[in-house]
Amino acid sequence: MDGVILTNSKGTVLNWNKQAEHILELKREETIGKSVYHLVPYKLRKQLKASFANYIKTGDDDLINKRVETSVNRRNGTVVYIELTIVAIEVKDDYLFNAFFRDITNRKIIDNEIREAKVLAEKSAKAKSVFLSNMSHEIRTPLNVILGLTGILQKSNFSNPTVDKKNLDGIQFSAENLLVLINDILDFSKIEAGKLTLHKEDFNLHELLNNLSRGFKIKADEKGLTYQVFIDTTVPKFIVGDQLRLNQILINLLGNAIKFTQKGEVLIQVTTHEILDDHITLNFLVKDTGVGIPEDKLKNIFESFYQVHKPGKNKIEGTGLGLSISKQLIELQGGILNAKSTPQVGSSFDFSIQFDKSNFKTSDHHNANSKIIDNLGELSGMKVLVVEDNKMNQFFIKQLLSNWSVEVIIAENGKIAIETLEKETFDLILMDMHMPVMDGSEATQIIRKSTNPKINQIPIVACSADVFPESKKKAMSSGMNFYLTKPLSEKALEEILYSLKPNVEHHREEKNESTKTIGNSSTQSKTQYCDLSFLKKTFDHDNETIKSVLQIFLEETPNDYKTLTEVIKNKNNSKAKEIAHKLKSSFKTIGLEKEATILEKIEKLSDNDDDFGKIHEEFELLRLSFPLILKEIEDTMRDLSSSNS
Ligand code: ADP
Repeated sequence: MDGVILTNSKGTVLNWNKQAEHILELKREETIGKSVYHLVPYKLRKQLKASFANYIKTGDDDLINKRVETSVNRRNGTVVYIELTIVAIEVKDDYLFNAFFRDITNRKIIDNEIREAKVLAEKSAKAKSVFLSNMSHEIRTPLNVILGLTGILQKSNFSNPTVDKKNLDGIQFSAENLLVLINDILDFSKIEAGKLTLHKEDFNLHELLNNLSRGFKIKADEKGLTYQVFIDTTVPKFIVGDQLRLNQILINLLGNAIKFTQKGEVLIQVTTHEILDDHITLNFLVKDTGVGIPEDKLKNIFESFYQVHKPGKNKIEGTGLGLSISKQLIELQGGILNAKSTPQVGSSFDFSIQFDKSNFKTSDHHNANSKIIDNLGELSGMKVLVVEDNKMNQFFIKQLLSNWSVEVIIAENGKIAIETLEKETFDLILMDMHMPVMDGSEATQIIRKSTNPKINQIPIVACSADVFPESKKKAMSSGMNFYLTKPLSEKALEEILYSLKPNVEHHREEKNESTKTIGNSSTQSKTQYCDLSFLKKTFDHDNETIKSVLQIFLEETPNDYKTLTEVIKNKNNSKAKEIAHKLKSSFKTIGLEKEATILEKIEKLSDNDDDFGKIHEEFELLRLSFPLILKEIEDTMRDLSSSNS
């Protein structure tokens, strides 16, 4: 029911119903015969007076005979929102005004909430569109460079290798830039969703800082800046923490320092803040003598997408995400990122993180540059079970481990591995993921369920040619402890073996790349398909071992290749997937990256029965190059033999 108030043209109240009493909290007896103007607030009073007068004069008014929304203050001060319609009634020579109104306060509250939610949604939509426009600009810039340079290369007749190389370098730079950007976005969304987890592992902090500095020194040199690294003597070489995230933070801060400095110096300094029984807190400082940041902007620089210095047109200058990600990564590790800056003088960013102390020891952990004695023999006596069906990988891993006098037993598949474990004791299992009979994750699950602690506790390293995160997830959820991608990195494997042998002093040799120049130029023979640099590095240019790997490739892969040809012809997708996967890791080991990528595509396409056409297309590419690859390997083996003699 509506509240109803009847007045004459002078505003004297003639009627005031029950609902009007209820809505306005004014009793009928308090109002009848009184002027309505005294009962409503000042603003409405003025409006009513003017409207009544206007209607009487002209027969029309904005407030009369229309539905309007307004608000009235009750006597106690509370506001009530009403929907009001005033109807004018002509009587003899005068007018009566009948006001009908209803309480719409609840609706108003809901409307307000909806409005606020809408404003918020619009704000976040705006933030999203700013995000997208920033992103698309940032992504388009390197993509345009890649497309532009690829176009130039396509038209070139490769007669000028220097120019072609420069164009390729440009493509690589832009692609890497794109990767950094995309990783940034992924990190950002992971942090925003609270899904980022930190890893704890032993790592060599000095090595991390040196590797980082090597790259940044080149950048600093290019700009004519001095680059300084200062590591306090109390900072241990090995600590336990998330080295990738620390690296990421320092890359951001150093990248900015160099980016925003035109002359002078960039410094990175690491000092010990506090040492406890099990922990050590380190302080990191990155300082520059660059353009600086005005005081009023300093508080904003940690916001996502905030950029004090707008990048110039067509310049790859960052996303404005770096500091926001770094700050959150530091906070996730219990630290705080502080920034100080004076315009035209320079900026400094510092933070402290507490790390666990490492059990790894070095002969001289005070001196980052000291040469460490080669003591790899300390690993001798360890026993590793290699579960692997691919002959080439078997040979490769066996050779790698025998370098350190580690005993190796090979099992062709998961089932044989489990049988072997019943009979012998091992320090570690290197487990291939894809194998016939029983694959890596199934075998691992059985091992972990064993009631024998000598079996169920053995550390297991997943070895896979897959780089997809879901493969790693699958390995970890089946109970594996580490995940390494094939071809296995010597260093990663070595670190794992050392971590399993805590009594051994970690005398890792700091390999000096410059002393490892290739003795005979013929081993550097140009290859069109294979890139043997990985094998050469891993086996210290031992031509005999490299030849053996290539020999196994020649013996093993043609058969698999033949099978692949047949199963693709017969549209046997599951078999095609299996063989392509097996071949992929052999191809990767001898640096046939392009062909490995084709195999990876075939592997993926085999998931879908409708993709025969595409599988054929991919396979055609391989069919053209495979005989040439075999020929190249034979030639290379000959070269390697002659360089030995
Ligand atoms: P960007 O990708 O733009 O570098 P960041 O989040 O890393 O994004 O930094 C945000 C902004 O803070 C930069 O755009 C720059 O304006 C300012 N900034 C960061 N580091 C420095 C520095 N060392 N000197 C001057 N300005 C800096």
